[in-house]
Amino acid sequence: MNVILFGPPGAGKGTQGALLAQRMGIPKVATGDLIRTAMREETALGRQAKGYYDQGLLVPDEIIVGLIEDLLASGDVADGIIMDGFPRTMTQAEAVDGSLAARDGRVDHVILFDVPDTELVRRVLGRAREQGRSDDTPETIKKRLAVYRRETEPLVARYRRCDVVLEVDGTGSVDEIAARVADALEL
Ligand code: AMP
Repeated sequence: MNVILFGPPGAGKGTQGALLAQRMGIPKVATGDLIRTAMREETALGRQAKGYYDQGLLVPDEIIVGLIEDLLASGDVADGIIMDGFPRTMTQAEAVDGSLAARDGRVDHVILFDVPDTELVRRVLGRAREQGRSDDTPETIKKRLAVYRRETEPLVARYRRCDVVLEVDGTGSVDEIAARVADALEL
């Protein structure tokens, strides 16, 4: 099963994705994690991404599409994948569809986390204190939310047309939300 976790920064994609990966026995992959590792290791991807990342902007599709295609071609995700943080643009969504179709797969479900903006900002600021992410400052959080609304949220309409969107209330405890995700996926 191929599942996209969808929602703004702070929606709970990473936390819920890790639990879901364990429950379903398939890997969760986050493009944000791949980018952070690349920046730490100062690889070509890391150097290309850093300026965009630190400003809270999307890393350009020219860089991300190749990453997504390589990822989805890998044998590790042949039994399914939980996608966290991608696709974020129409071009990326097309790359995901194309790569999955190449192995007779499709996007089976899109879990859309519904969380009010005030709660998103509170969570991301909490994470900034705990993890010290360089893009979790009050200014970049606002920017990332705006980027999500402008560039990423329009993809929801695309997935609604394919009838794969499952909306989940993303407020409450981690366990409550995980139970809602499992219900939505009929696990
Ligand atoms: P995340 O960890 O998903 O919140 O992503 C953190 C940052 O990494 C984003 O603000 C972007 O700069 C970059 N990033 C992660 N995934 C993508 C993607 N699919 N497309 C473009 N930029 C991305």
